[in-house]
Amino acid sequence: MIHSFDALILGGGAAGLMCAIEAGKRGRRVAVLEHADRLGKKILISGGGRCNFTNIHCQPENFLSSNQHFAKSALARYTPADFLALVEKHRIPYHEKTLGQLFCDRSARDILEMLEEECRSAKVSILVSTQIQEVSRAAGFAVRTANAEFRAPALVVATGGLSIPKIGATSFGYDLARQFGIKIREPWPALVPLVLSAEDRSRYCDLAGVSADVIASCDGEEFREKMLITHRGLSGPAILQISSYWKRPQPIVIDLAPGSEVTAIFRDTKMARDAAAVRGELRKRLPNRLADRWVELHTPASWTNTALADFERYTHAWIIVPAGTEGFEKAEATGGGVDTDELSAKTMECRRVPGLFFIGEVVDVTGHLGGFNFQWAWAAGAAAGRSL
Ligand SMILES: Cc1cc2nc3c(=O)[nH]c(=O)nc-3n(C[C@H](O)[C@H](O)[C@H](O)COP(=O)(O)OP(=O)(O)OC[C@H]3O[C@@H](n4cnc5c(N)ncnc54)[C@H](O)[C@@H]3O)c2cc1C
Repeated sequence: MIHSFDALILGGGAAGLMCAIEAGKRGRRVAVLEHADRLGKKILISGGGRCNFTNIHCQPENFLSSNQHFAKSALARYTPADFLALVEKHRIPYHEKTLGQLFCDRSARDILEMLEEECRSAKVSILVSTQIQEVSRAAGFAVRTANAEFRAPALVVATGGLSIPKIGATSFGYDLARQFGIKIREPWPALVPLVLSAEDRSRYCDLAGVSADVIASCDGEEFREKMLITHRGLSGPAILQISSYWKRPQPIVIDLAPGSEVTAIFRDTKMARDAAAVRGELRKRLPNRLADRWVELHTPASWTNTALADFERYTHAWIIVPAGTEGFEKAEATGGGVDTDELSAKTMECRRVPGLFFIGEVVDVTGHLGGFNFQWAWAAGAAAGRSL
């Protein structure tokens, strides 16, 4: 059985659905082929189930890519305000949590249902549980599944990255790119918890669950947000953000008391200089257990001004050399991917393979934590959808 369309979209996640909606609205006959038993599984688990669907402060600087300019055009032509207009049209209640991050008040399901409804009104054909066996190109593109063949002059690859394989992530998009001779930047886990060395694990990981407001920095980038100690290392927004910039064997530097001088109190010469006093000061800035552990492990060798200055310096620059990351199983995003040199920044179409498009996370554009990855998926999806 052969089914013909104007465009085939592989992957029914954030980018694929947005692309289908934009193309369908313009009268194109589009089909979304999704291998999972339902659309948008990642949308449903995103933002702790509330989907941080965009960020109102979205800027090109919030993205990593080997070409810092590539995402600008798509992001400028489909903005957070555009997505918000859609959310408001569907009367979905939302709130700003922090730092411009917009979340659903109720559930991520609201966003998925909105996209599904938009697909219905744009007359998009949706096929779930569809296992793609082969993709070929002659006059147009042909996609063969177990019991049908789909043909179209345009093929959009929106199959996402490698993060969270247990909900359906595959290397399909990269494999397809290679099949057509398209360059790939080696994918790596981004926005991922870090694993500490055995020595640091034995020092800190019994404090699993403790979190603190810190500045984490690496490779000239820094993020001030919460850090969380885990059973194997460090996580929390500050660590996830900085993990995207970390490459082995670089160190990560953590300021445990941003913007304050812990030992300032000892300028008062009447103040006793001892572990109890320094612990008391640190407890004002850190959870008690972490403050106590820090002092226990780094008690100044003497109580001279020089020793106190060393303690102060180290408290603002805890140097960690992670043993690794928790990998794609726990990563919220995938760095690297289809090389942006291969794509038109305006349409996401391959320069060397007309009619073939790559959008969303499969492309070498990775957002910071905070709604930026979805904004990229919406923007790239819209860019391709409007050009089909
Ligand atoms: C736990 C978690 C929480 C997150 N929370 C947020 C958040 O709150 N805000 C934010 O901005 N970003 C968040 N992200 C990142 C965000 O989910 C992704 O960046 C975004 O979903 C990428 O969209 P995409 O359409 O490119 O890929 P996906 O959403 O991954 O969609 C790809 C689709 O392709 C399908 N597919 C894969 N292989 C095949 C194949 N061979 N054949 C057919 N279909 C296939 C998949 O099943 C999937 O439906 C989160 C990620 C994770 C893992």
